[in-house]
Amino acid sequence: MNYYQSNTIIYHNGKFVKASEATMDLYSQSLHYGYSVFEGIRSYKTTDGSTAIFKAVEHFERLKVSAEAINLPYSFDTKELIAATYEVLNQNKLGDAYIRPVVYAPANMSFARNTESYVFIEAWEMAPFLGDKLLRMMTSSFQRPNPKAFKIHAKAAGHYVNSILASQEAKDKGYDEAFLLDMNDHLAEGPGANMFFEKDGVLFTPKPGHILAGITRATVLEICTQLGIEVREGTYTLQDIKSADAAFFCGTAAEVIGWESLDDYVFPASFLETKSYQVQQAYKKMVVTPLSN
Ligand code: PMP
Repeated sequence: MNYYQSNTIIYHNGKFVKASEATMDLYSQSLHYGYSVFEGIRSYKTTDGSTAIFKAVEHFERLKVSAEAINLPYSFDTKELIAATYEVLNQNKLGDAYIRPVVYAPANMSFARNTESYVFIEAWEMAPFLGDKLLRMMTSSFQRPNPKAFKIHAKAAGHYVNSILASQEAKDKGYDEAFLLDMNDHLAEGPGANMFFEKDGVLFTPKPGHILAGITRATVLEICTQLGIEVREGTYTLQDIKSADAAFFCGTAAEVIGWESLDDYVFPASFLETKSYQVQQAYKKMVVTPLSN
């Protein structure tokens, strides 16, 4: 995958620079210890032809919450970062894109706190996929991290070693993606997405505590309220999902995408006839709605 070309522009510490010329310190504490925070954001070409960053404020506010959760100094302003992101999209002529802001630490080989941190924002083209193809899922042999070991609500880079291990294991075994339980063997989430399952027209999703309770998850809850779909947040087991009618992943990158199976359990409902499908269609519409201001 080519994330950038020779003329691609990124935002780096207040400046718009060529991606190919931007540098970072190889002694950065972030690189050595996975000690950085990031966001995964999408922009969409909307129905009036404008480009809109979906839930921009929510994402940049979470970036701040993530940084503060792991003691990275955060001196950036959400409005300025959003403006910088639109400028990156504009300079690279991007509409449907994936946007990746990262906040990282200076050179520091110790574990001590830093007095400053740095930011960059990259973006590359990514078409909406909202897949018609349902996912063949595998219950991972890896669990999500113990929330007493990590600030689990923070989108910290180091957490993603767990995601990488789980995803690679599932793909090595011929599945599309992994699904992870928490340390108590309760349903948790995917390597980069939250999960809902559906039974008798009601949606269920793991409550916050052992998951990154995502912005798309919050959007799905919003959509369910709008559509009058009942949703419950709770603590669930594999037995619960393996007697469900349908299930789906939701996340910024994944959007809303249905599951075909989990291990040897095939979800019996036709996805097109589920509430989950109604949620997917509403999400699809929402992301391409022009911003009101
Ligand atoms: N869980 C994990 C572990 C993730 O990495 C993501 C992607 N950020 C999500 C859930 C979904 O979050 P969001 O909807 O905010 O993208």
